[in-house]
Amino acid sequence: MSLSALTYIARRGMATKLTVKSLAIIGSGQMGAGIAQVAAATGHKVVLCDTAGDILEKAQAGIQKSLQRVVKKKYADDPEKGQEFITSTMANIETTTEPAKAVVTADLVVEAIVENLAVKQDLFRTLDKFAPAKTIFASNTSSLPITAIADSTKRQDKFAGLHFFNPVPVMKLVEVVRAPGTSQEVYECLMEFSKAIGKHPVTCKDTPGFLVNRLLVPYMLESVRLYERGDGSKEDIDVAMKLGAGYPMGPFELLDYVGLDTCKFIIDGWHELEPENPLFEPSQLLNELVAAGKHGKKTGEGFYKY
Ligand code: NAD
Repeated sequence: MSLSALTYIARRGMATKLTVKSLAIIGSGQMGAGIAQVAAATGHKVVLCDTAGDILEKAQAGIQKSLQRVVKKKYADDPEKGQEFITSTMANIETTTEPAKAVVTADLVVEAIVENLAVKQDLFRTLDKFAPAKTIFASNTSSLPITAIADSTKRQDKFAGLHFFNPVPVMKLVEVVRAPGTSQEVYECLMEFSKAIGKHPVTCKDTPGFLVNRLLVPYMLESVRLYERGDGSKEDIDVAMKLGAGYPMGPFELLDYVGLDTCKFIIDGWHELEPENPLFEPSQLLNELVAAGKHGKKTGEGFYKY
């Protein structure tokens, strides 16, 4: 190989090897707090951002509690080491209510705010102005097109989906979503980062629902239709899928756990994108339950009462 070819490869290697040491996480709800916990626990510096101080305090208290659960199992024989782990993890997390400040030194921004395209675009438009050029942007959206969110910025090459699962400290999977503009280096960096925080990444294109929800949401909706047609009771359908398919939860238990409002929001969005797709057909029963405020476990009632 010629010297110039070697120089080119060396330069390319030097220029493109991206690593994540510091993160800004925007949104400190269920997902943002979980992502902050696993990143901080694996030695990453995290700035966690939300709209108000009390929300951030609640998130920090939740992380502390969750870490105590981890320590009880992981450091059962060495409580002192467990306490050290909690202290060092919490010390890796700073908080702020100003997104512009959160991103100034971040290698990676993970957005986990409300599932609303216009609100996410607005946020990223602002972050794009304040984050350094090197900063990678990722959205944890469950159902919105990554490309549409990325279009609010001027860094499509440094934009991807990083889809975690709830509860983040427990669930191993991360979907690394490559939009058409995502560069190879950014994709590789996000795969590496996912492994560095102890997750198992899988890759997919920017397609509705990515991999897991693309299969899971139509499955849950078809379960509702099966029940609506009177083909089986919801209790029997749940038992059938647990004992017959080996699923840990039946579809109605899962719907209540995820939140019926969230499921409705997802299916309505996909139906709008692809009205002819029978897999994305909305459900009348689901609409009625959501209209009645029965959103599942979090409201005390969904398909079941809690
Ligand atoms: P959540 O309601 O628990 O938390 C959202 C947080 O974002 C709230 O604390 C809210 O105050 C904050 N927020 C809203 N707008 C903000 C802004 N402009 N700047 C800063 N903070 C803001 O929601 P969640 O369940 O954590 O979901 C967050 C995202 O993750 C959504 O896009 C959702 O689709 C996705 N997601 C959720 C799950 C799940 O099971 N809950 C799983 C995977 C992905």
